[in-house]
Amino acid sequence: MTSRHGADEARPVWRPALFAEPSGNGRVRCTLCPFRCDLADGRTGVCRVRRNRSGVLETATFTAAATHLDAVERKPLYHVRPGSRVLTVAGPGCTFRCDYCVNHRLSQYGRADGSSWRGAPADAAALAARAAEEGAALGLSYSEPGLAPELTLALAEEAEPLGVPIVWKSNGFLTRHAIRRVAPVLLAVNIDVKAADEAAHLRLTGAPLRPVLDAVELFREEGVWVEVSTPLVPGVSDEPGQLGAIARTLAAVDPALPWHLLRFTPDFRMTAESPTAPSALRTGRDIGEEAGLLHVYVERALGEEGRTTRCPSCRSPLVRRGLWSTTLNEMSSDACARCAHPVPGRWGRNDD
Ligand code: SF4
Repeated sequence: MTSRHGADEARPVWRPALFAEPSGNGRVRCTLCPFRCDLADGRTGVCRVRRNRSGVLETATFTAAATHLDAVERKPLYHVRPGSRVLTVAGPGCTFRCDYCVNHRLSQYGRADGSSWRGAPADAAALAARAAEEGAALGLSYSEPGLAPELTLALAEEAEPLGVPIVWKSNGFLTRHAIRRVAPVLLAVNIDVKAADEAAHLRLTGAPLRPVLDAVELFREEGVWVEVSTPLVPGVSDEPGQLGAIARTLAAVDPALPWHLLRFTPDFRMTAESPTAPSALRTGRDIGEEAGLLHVYVERALGEEGRTTRCPSCRSPLVRRGLWSTTLNEMSSDACARCAHPVPGRWGRNDD
């Protein structure tokens, strides 16, 4: 397609999708996420990147719109191969419509205030080879990787023989069926838990919270390493009551589950609000620790201490992180090198 300026405009390339069930009269039900869209011929799902075309469910997410090599700590994943790198791939699309999304130009494709299509079909073999050459993992992030199970499985097929693991940064909004299908090829996933109650989560994301909390547990049950992030969104998740409730929920799953508190920065439809104050992040960390969580992290506002992994028993520093590099790493197994107290994670290159 050519625009009125004469330049070629990128358009989605659609291909058959997984997680499809015929639902009668040419309709197809998508079972990838809990919305379970029942699509008439020609209709596109809530996510805008899956559609019914002549009775076949198709996806547009076998796409690389961004490819970027960055530190695993940037996902953020702090208990996964510290100091290693991730070749991160992202295509357009998300199941959520968060008002503060910093990646909204990519994630909100197809929505009224979203952006035009970006990206070309992903070359799974080339991406896996590049990650292997760089000694990096492969990651799907920036937009919603849960919408790209087909790409994830194709990457895994190429990456596994090369010893390249795959990680996700996800909103966790997937059906149990979908999680069970992709979990075997994932080393780790960071899941956003953005609110403590259904009403707040629905208001912020347009989706229910329960499936996200279920995903935290199910990915763990399936053997995937899970860390959780919570952005301190003004009026929603920056309230101490909300943070306390999230922290208690996570501590009930496992006190050793790493919890990352993320600073809010004004963006998208929330440009009038102020960035999160360092004091709010400090309060959030105290709330997490009071709830019993053993590893609460803050990337910047609390300096190096906010990024340090300590043994929960003897308090020795085990991993120290600068902003862009690891400055100490004493973890080679799931235990403190000093006192042997358990410190779970996927610490070594042989944990894949
Ligand atoms: S992945 Fe998209 S099409 Fe499928 S159920 Fe979810 S929103 Fe609907």
